[in-house]
Order: sequence, then C-alpha cells, then structure tokens
Amino acid sequence: MILVVGGAGYIGSHMLKLLRDQQEPHVVFDSLENGHRTALQSSLFVQGDLRNPDDLKRAFDAYPEIDLVMHFAAYISVGESVREPGKYYNNNTAGVLNLLEEMKSRGIGKFVFSSTAAVFGNPQYVPLDEVHPKGPLNPYGHSKLMVEQMLDDYDVAHSFKSVCLRYFNAAGADPDGVLGEDHEPEEHLIPVALLAALGRRPTMKVFGTDYDTPDGTCVRDYIHVLDLAQAHLLAVRHLRAGGDSRKYNLGNGEGFSVKQVLETTEKVIGREVPKEYGPRRPGDSPKLIADSSRIRQDWGWQPAYPDLEQIIDHAWKWRLAHLEGFGD
Ligand code: UDP
Repeated sequence: MILVVGGAGYIGSHMLKLLRDQQEPHVVFDSLENGHRTALQSSLFVQGDLRNPDDLKRAFDAYPEIDLVMHFAAYISVGESVREPGKYYNNNTAGVLNLLEEMKSRGIGKFVFSSTAAVFGNPQYVPLDEVHPKGPLNPYGHSKLMVEQMLDDYDVAHSFKSVCLRYFNAAGADPDGVLGEDHEPEEHLIPVALLAALGRRPTMKVFGTDYDTPDGTCVRDYIHVLDLAQAHLLAVRHLRAGGDSRKYNLGNGEGFSVKQVLETTEKVIGREVPKEYGPRRPGDSPKLIADSSRIRQDWGWQPAYPDLEQIIDHAWKWRLAHLEGFGD
C-alpha cells in the first residue's frame, strides 16, 4: 500500500486519480491546510501534519501494509519562501526528516519525492540535465535540495531507495474537469492569469522585464500535472521491482517566457489578461528548461500533453467550472 503524503493538494490529487484508475491500494495523509477534502474522493484518508511525529505514527499504525511513501506535502511558493524561510525549512525539510525517521523505524525504505527545478538556480547551460550544478536561489529550492541530500545519505546508511522527481513548472488539470489547481493565495503564473482574466483580481503583475532572455521576462518549462503523475507511477514500479535510487528532471524541454505564456493564455481563452509590468520577484531564476532525456531513456516516460495551449486549456476549463475553487 502507498502512503500519499499531501494527496489532497494539486499534484497529489491528480496522483490519487491515477492510483484509483490503476486500482493501486493507497491511503492519503494530509493536514488539509492547503489541500482540499473534495479532491480526496474515495481514497482512504488520515488527517495529520508531517511536523507532528505523533500524527505520522498514527497513520503508519493504522495501515501497517504501507510499503512505499510518496511525498507531495510541501509549501511551493518561491516568493513566500524568501519572505518566510523558516516556514519552508520547517515543513519541507524538517517535516520530511520526521517522515524518513518514521519510515526507517518501521523498515519501510521506498520513497518517491517531489523535488523541483529550483534546486538548479542560475543555469550555466540549458536545457538542464540531472548533473547540472545545483545552486538554489531561494529557500524553497534549498529546502528541497536538502532533502535530496538526506536521501543520498539514507541510501548509504540504511539502503533506503528513493526516486527524486524534479518538476519544472507543473500546470494544467485533468481534462475530466473534476480536479484542478486551487491555492490560497494563488501565486502561480497560469492560474493567476486566469483569475485576472476572469476579473477575480483587478490585474496581475509580470515580475521583471530585464532578464537576459529574448523578451526580458523569465523562461520556464511547463509540464502537465498528469504527465508528472505518470512519472510517479513509473517510479513506484521501479522501486517495487527492487530498483536503485534515481533522480530525474521532468519537463517538456521547451521554454516559454512569461510574456509568451500570457499571449498563449489570451489566445486559448479568448479574453485579455489585465497585466502590469513590475520589478523582479526575489529568488527567481531567469531560465529553467528541462532536459528529461534520462527518464525518457530509462523508463520510456513520454508526456501525453506536451502542448502549452492544451495545458492552459485544461487549466481554464477547470477554473471556468469552479470559479470559487474547490470551495472547501
Ligand atoms: N510570475 C509572474 N507573475 C505572477 C506569477 C508568476 O510574472 O503573478 C512569473 C514568475 O516570476 C516566474 C514565472 O512567472 O518567472 C513562473 O512563476 P511561478 O510562480 O508560476 O512558478 P515558479 O517558476 O516560481 O515555480
């Protein structure tokens, strides 16, 4: 049985859908601080917080069949991490340490970890492959890179096997329209643009127009949330087959500037996105584009939804049908 930590959140809830489709036994652990009860649907659920070891004990005690853990329960806003680093290290790093210790004490040594392109920082070359030097520019990236290091050390000391999946920019939604991206406050580019287009906020800010990129705005590689979930499934199979520890970059290998994303959004939704141009957001890397050839070669991972227009269209369909988000 898989313990899905943070399964009520954006990426976690898409993962749950895939696990249910695959009839893969699982139980969700989530504090519901940012997750949504509605997103859990029929999955088993334990409410608890990673920062509280007793909550973790309760979950593992209740489901002794757990043999593998997936972790999605992180704070994810670059800007907020610069303003409140302690919050990020406490949850994203110390919280995961609690989880690893609990797993170790029970002899559970299979872990799939949601890492991030933010571990790289300023690119020395693009696209970024797995061996590109690491140099996070913000506490969010540091909080994740520290866990990658812990996992290396746990492997040496305890034969603990992990797969770190470094997401580039997760976006989109399941096209069936039930699940979507609903953060409070929302700080990510595509959902913010959609909310602005809907008049749910007066305008949106483009953070920085003086980067060393073709149009001066930051470049990112947007990857569909279902393609991320699929990579997790491959990781589960690898670990269950006795596989070794791995790290993979997950993206489409194509970079889009903030301006290009907004133009594409306007084209897809047929509305204008009200925007203002402002200063840089502290902690942002100018350009993050993935080289995902390693996971493609090793496991045959192949994004099913690589097209940015389709990614935005799926996000838009969900938002139009859920103007108030999940409402829970
Ligand atoms: N961005 C922006 N305005 C916003 C939100 C994001 O200009 O309201 C930019 C941000 O500076 C970055 C890109 O959009 O260059 C993607 O940011 P996001 O927060 O979505 O993801 P991140 O790359 O930080 O994980």
